Amino acid sequence: MSELKTLQPVVDALSRPFWQAARAHHLVLPRCEGCQTLRAHFERWCAVCGDEHFQWERLSGRGKVWSHCIFHRIYFPSSDLKVPYNVAVVALEEGPRLISNIVGIDSQFIEIDMPVIVHFEDMTEEISLVKFKPLHFSV
Ligand SMILES: [Zn+2]
Repeated sequence: MSELKTLQPVVDALSRPFWQAARAHHLVLPRCEGCQTLRAHFERWCAVCGDEHFQWERLSGRGKVWSHCIFHRIYFPSSDLKVPYNVAVVALEEGPRLISNIVGIDSQFIEIDMPVIVHFEDMTEEISLVKFKPLHFSV
């Protein structure tokens, strides 16, 4: 396990269950009890119906690349981030879209609608980053 040198996610009361699940290599998101919408963000109230009750739900981890780009410049101080790197929006098969990175493939070969599956990178004792890898390639 490497020392975390990249920007650390903000873990607060609303997002802690997500990060605890990620550390156990499970992908979870909150499902609204009022309208059953899966939330992709950790907010107190549902953006659809305003309900503040939700249940954490374990997801399949499968999705498709919805959008992606390649960064050729480092915008934040980091000693272990190397350019170029990709940032992708993954549309989970359950519906929500997550912003992440695609690993296990040269960024130039990432394609829209490419099937991907979640891949957890253990960074610290508390943080595993949620990334994705191509479903049909090996990391
Ligand atoms: Zn709702």
